[in-house]
Amino acid sequence: MTPKRKPVVGGNWKMHGTLGEAQDLASEVRNRLSSYGAVQTLVFPPFPFLGAVAQRLADSNIGLGAQDLHFEKKGAFTGAVSAEMLTSVGCAWVLVGHSERRHVFGDSDDVVAKKLRAALAAGLKPVLCVGEKLEERKAGDTFAVNRRQLRTALNGLAGDQLQHLVLAYEPVWAIGTGLVATPEQAQEVHADVRAAVAELLGGAFAGAVRIQYGGSVKAETAAGLMAKADVDGLLVGGASLKAEEFAAIVRARA
Ligand code: PEP
Repeated sequence: MTPKRKPVVGGNWKMHGTLGEAQDLASEVRNRLSSYGAVQTLVFPPFPFLGAVAQRLADSNIGLGAQDLHFEKKGAFTGAVSAEMLTSVGCAWVLVGHSERRHVFGDSDDVVAKKLRAALAAGLKPVLCVGEKLEERKAGDTFAVNRRQLRTALNGLAGDQLQHLVLAYEPVWAIGTGLVATPEQAQEVHADVRAAVAELLGGAFAGAVRIQYGGSVKAETAAGLMAKADVDGLLVGGASLKAEEFAAIVRARA
């Protein structure tokens, strides 16, 4: 791994837990990781728990993010949450284009692009997720799908607007399935994602941007993935709900 890219590991809590469980998990993550500075640690709780988790993480080095946002600033969008709402409860980060938003809720590439712009306009640091479905991989379209998602999201943006951008390669077939990509599969796509970013935003930007792998990561698979040259961290779903396992994943980097 290039030393100048500090690894970043995020825990996506998805739609799990109650307020009390989220508070306990946040405190436990903080206790286990607040003195560990080698990796940047982020957590993404469900919307209703963000303010309470922000309090538990106050003055720690653990970053707080939301799992999604709406692209509009305000209005008649029942059930939706704006970027400004997120910053007002203490969020600094937000997932954009997570595969469950794309494939369960139907967010198109264009909607993801709008969400990315809304996040940037509000000063949120985005984790832009891309990834191919199993049938796309089988058809030999892995690179093309990831490049299309990246291109649509990043089109027209400049590197100085994207200085806090983190990318996450999350193959849809690996998310929540127990089918983790091999380190070699992850590295192959990460290298192509970085090459695509270089074409869009230049080599210097591409060399600095961090690319996480996500998809069924567990403590025992984390080190092998993070050892790869272009894997700069992990985005962890199910395994981030147990503080002990999440801390082991964060600390797995050699
Ligand atoms: C995710 O939600 O981003 C994810 C990678 O989930 P899981 O680790 O459960 O596959």
